[in-house]
Amino acid sequence: MEIKAAVLSGLKEEFKVREVQLDNELQSNEVLVKIAGSGICHTDLAVRDGFLPFPTPSILGHEGSGIVEKIGSAVSKVQIGDHVVMAPASCGSCEPCRSGHPSYCVNFLPLNFGPGRVDGSCPYHDHTGQNVNGMFFGQSSFATYSLVAESGVVKVTKDVPIELLGPLGCGIQTGAGSVLNILKPNPGESIIIFGVGSVGLSGIMAAKAAGCTTIIAVDLYESRLEMAMELGATHIINAKNEKAADVVLKRIMPGGVHYAFDTTGINSVIVDALSSLRSLGKLALVIVAGDKLDIDNMVLMGKSIHYSIEGDSVPDVFIPKLINMYQAGIFPFDKLVKYYDLDEINQAIHDAEKGTTIKAILKM
Ligand SMILES: [Zn+2]
Ligand SMILES: [Zn+2]
Repeated sequence: MEIKAAVLSGLKEEFKVREVQLDNELQSNEVLVKIAGSGICHTDLAVRDGFLPFPTPSILGHEGSGIVEKIGSAVSKVQIGDHVVMAPASCGSCEPCRSGHPSYCVNFLPLNFGPGRVDGSCPYHDHTGQNVNGMFFGQSSFATYSLVAESGVVKVTKDVPIELLGPLGCGIQTGAGSVLNILKPNPGESIIIFGVGSVGLSGIMAAKAAGCTTIIAVDLYESRLEMAMELGATHIINAKNEKAADVVLKRIMPGGVHYAFDTTGINSVIVDALSSLRSLGKLALVIVAGDKLDIDNMVLMGKSIHYSIEGDSVPDVFIPKLINMYQAGIFPFDKLVKYYDLDEINQAIHDAEKGTTIKAILKM
């Protein structure tokens, strides 16, 4: 069948929307999804720029949502017409998968960065018959259709616009899950969040929903800090003007906060996050820029650091929970979203990189 996809032809190039052939034959465990929307995530851009390996020409995108159009002979999890959000692929049989931590699946890399299926076949081709690498993060959602393994789809309610829900599969669940699944704050506790883009703001909303009574947002941009206040931050610090740990320890909470969440990956910011914590405090981080952390042992003092992948969530459980929270008005993640057409993908990326759009969603 012919589909439309935003194809990346070479590193650091612009995406070009064109026709691509997708095999009609589904493998027994596969689901064909008509994509309604796909968020754009930092990881798509990291691949475009060569920081993460995925060969070109390729179809990226890994925050897709849509409607099931066809299912393989062995699929039992979803039916035709179901609304689904797509989440990263996991094997289901390794120890992390079996113990409820599929984001730490030992087969995460081959399953999500293949390229193509695990058996080495590629279902996407251009008009000359040449392979177009796909199944990126198990889904390649910058397209009108996606072929995805049954394990990678999460059935969701039809009561919420389906095109809104794709980012729950990566950026939003990473932010909310880092707080709710990893840090697990109790009502009345305190948290500081460094970097309030889509991941950090999802953490702010989750912290508020969890009952944190001191929620400190740190960023360099006033507009993002204002958004953090709107979504639940009780204090904001512009790190351009002052060091966050100094402000926390001198003015906000002299003993330090219970939890910290870093979304920047910058070594000096991670040290600032650790310095803001009280003894035995917990830090979750989602990225470390460069190869290693350089931490003075004096700031550790019984504190722990947890590297969060996808917020350590079980997507089948956590994504419907986030939708329930959204419907109840305590997780208004739609406030982060701006929609673009698939043809406007390069504009959407430009706006996301400039920070004028917090979470861009391509509508198919
Ligand atoms: Zn992502
Ligand atoms: Zn696994």
